[in-house]
Amino acid sequence: MYRGRFAPSPTGPLHFGSLVAAVGSFLEARARRGEWLVRIEDLDPPREPAGAAGDILRTLDAFGLHWDGEVVYQSRRQGAYEAALAELRRLGVLYACGCTRREIADSAVAGVDGPVYPGTCRNGVPAGREGRTLRVRTDDAAIAFEDRMQGRVESRLERDVGDFVLRRADGFYAYQLAVVVDDAAQGVNDVVRGADLLGSTARQIHLQRLLGLPTPAYAHLPIAVDAEGAKLSKQTGAEPVRIEHASELWWDALWFLGQEPPADLRTAPVAVIRDWAIAHWHAAAVPRTAAMRFP
Ligand code: GLU
Repeated sequence: MYRGRFAPSPTGPLHFGSLVAAVGSFLEARARRGEWLVRIEDLDPPREPAGAAGDILRTLDAFGLHWDGEVVYQSRRQGAYEAALAELRRLGVLYACGCTRREIADSAVAGVDGPVYPGTCRNGVPAGREGRTLRVRTDDAAIAFEDRMQGRVESRLERDVGDFVLRRADGFYAYQLAVVVDDAAQGVNDVVRGADLLGSTARQIHLQRLLGLPTPAYAHLPIAVDAEGAKLSKQTGAEPVRIEHASELWWDALWFLGQEPPADLRTAPVAVIRDWAIAHWHAAAVPRTAAMRFP
């Protein structure tokens, strides 16, 4: 049984970029007669305006993007994340790190996602310093996977990322840990999401292997970028999607995903567009690129 999901961080309302991820993951699940789950990744309270999660869920509903089962909230899953950390500690691959962001930025080489952690605290926090974060050890082995949209991806974590943070200095759990624990706990066997997360996947596979969890299949959709090549996001002020424009936005998302929706669908009721999209979903037509300009 196919089981996919959409896992937004409630840092603001849905914008076109996150709508594309919702639509792409939804269509893949429904076209394969599978399940589509929604998980609210509310791991970072300082960045989450009050009401954002409810707003996202109402928007999905208004777009006819109906999910299966109960919505899972990561803010209620601390016990599961602690258990995973305990297991990594038992395996001897978890350690406390006393370095600040500034120190790492000053000393490290650029990696796929910020500076590569140089391993300063691998063998203990230096005298006079305190552990701030928890990191997992990486190694030099190649981690490779075949992405259905982006092709083969290979990474050597020690070189490309370094040992990475699983619990932050403020005590919150890192996305990389929570996503791995929850995809496994929810039985997700296929992950369709934006290509901005392509570089995170090797880290997630590393954790899955350490924790003895299955690795889902992956398909990373192109992300929408503006004329300057910047990702459309809440941070760059991308406009929230408006429920009143649900039909046009559905149509735009389908067009963005290479689906060639007929012109007259643009004014059709949401349920009609959605059902057309499920019946005609052609994953092979999604552009094989990591980023595309929109509009
Ligand atoms: N919560 C992440 C985000 O909104 C997505 C996580 C995922 O799909 O793995 O960017």
